[in-house]
Amino acid sequence: MSEFRNENTPVIVEADGFHLIDALGHRYLDGHSSLWCNIHGHRVRAIDQAIRAQLDRVAHSTLLGLSNGPSIELADELVRRTPDGLQKVFYSDCGAAGVEVALKIAYQFYQQRPNGEQIRDKFLHFDGAYHGDTIGTMSIGSIGRFKHLYNPLLFPVVWTSVPNASPDNPDQERQQLDYWISELEKLLELHHETLAGVVIEPLVQAAAGIKVQASGFLKRARELTRRFDTLLIADEIAVGFGRTGTLFACEQESVDPDILILSKGLTGGYLPLAATLVTDEIYETFLGDPWLGRTFYHGHTYTGNPLACAAALASIRLIDENQVLKNSQRLEGVLRRELESLKAHPNIKEIRQKGTMVGIEIAIDGEPFPVELRIGHQVTLACRKRGVVLRNIADVIVLMPAPAMPEPLVEELCHVVGESIAEVMQAVKQRI
Ligand SMILES: *Cc1c(COP(=O)(O)O)cnc(C)c1O
Repeated sequence: MSEFRNENTPVIVEADGFHLIDALGHRYLDGHSSLWCNIHGHRVRAIDQAIRAQLDRVAHSTLLGLSNGPSIELADELVRRTPDGLQKVFYSDCGAAGVEVALKIAYQFYQQRPNGEQIRDKFLHFDGAYHGDTIGTMSIGSIGRFKHLYNPLLFPVVWTSVPNASPDNPDQERQQLDYWISELEKLLELHHETLAGVVIEPLVQAAAGIKVQASGFLKRARELTRRFDTLLIADEIAVGFGRTGTLFACEQESVDPDILILSKGLTGGYLPLAATLVTDEIYETFLGDPWLGRTFYHGHTYTGNPLACAAALASIRLIDENQVLKNSQRLEGVLRRELESLKAHPNIKEIRQKGTMVGIEIAIDGEPFPVELRIGHQVTLACRKRGVVLRNIADVIVLMPAPAMPEPLVEELCHVVGESIAEVMQAVKQRI
């Protein structure tokens, strides 16, 4: 926090397409989609107009005892586009809240389903998981520096690892896949009677530093959760809305989760909104006479905010109209091509990529740099100097161009990152 105060952090006052502009008039290419949210760029006419039109009707009412047009239309749109079986939508206003909603629904579901059974009070999550910064979502997260301080406040969980993709070594990838699937199977065997759900970030653990999973893991985890009768809870907050090349990551392994959480890209990166989708089977266990108290007692003040829902509807329609998925698939190749030459750099340990999500891991002789050098952060400062905003996760530089970004801007992004890494490495060599 001290550093933040010392680094002349730009104050963003406006935007123009894929660029942000600060109070001093500097322009920055938005290289991380304003923290993984932005889909179409900024000041997109269709989304701006949708919000203005809604503003002329009503900015906010509530979904507690009332409803509103945009929230109904958006729910309909989400049910049609998300994987099969997800039929009901619960709105909240940030990703972490959407995940908390999923956890509470899963916990309550097992108590209320017919032939009610013993309480299931555990969740399984994966090493490297990130699902938000609230007490509940930290409990199912496993990035130490985000949560270790709060450990005594967190609830107990069961966890295991995901197999990583090894694009250069398919045999190793398959072995890892089999190994970690059998580990998952053992844990489910042991705990399934008290497990309310398995929570996963499908295909990519983003906050872990863009960790790409071995292909097939999601599908086989789905099969296991069905076999052991525990819910599969898919957190697509980061990977949803085109970042992996399909609208939702689950599509790539034909997986239909029991619960799906969406946020970040849901409104095109315009307004805070999250949606937790569930199957009819889950929904129906919450029905019954009012005095039975089966209701899901969870209501955020701004649930179903009409402005946010109007933005989301406009963004989803633009994904079709502008063929954003096609662009995202094209950008996958552009990123791969433009970053290829970086692989030879002695300080690049690994470049991980899925769709338009990229993590470039910097290291020295394969080991992390001393933390006090803040190497990753230095690289982002060097990028900023060259007119690109990015964020690092420790020594991983994360590139997350908006799925609709034009190709030349993505080329520029890669070019600037390459130059910035080279500059910082040069400077470090002189110091150590
Ligand atoms: C960002 C993120 C969250 C948390 O969303 P917030 O809106 O920041 O609360 C949860 N899960 C994943 C996978 C994320 O990337």
